[in-house]
Amino acid sequence: MEKDCQYCTGHSRDRKELMYTQTSDYKIIINRCNFLEDNLIGGSVPHSVYGIKISYCPMCGREL
Ligand SMILES: [Zn+2]
Repeated sequence: MEKDCQYCTGHSRDRKELMYTQTSDYKIIINRCNFLEDNLIGGSVPHSVYGIKISYCPMCGREL
């Protein structure tokens, strides 16, 4: 049986980041409503992905 995906299961606070940079604290997670969420405040920058809804986990392919 497959291990629970660390990116799309569990509490959003405990999920692994989909992407992060080492030069800053920027990171992206899948939140519990299956929206992408980054750690920038309220999508305050042009490249923010905040609020983009996804249907499948990009890491394990699971339908969300
Ligand atoms: Zn997943």
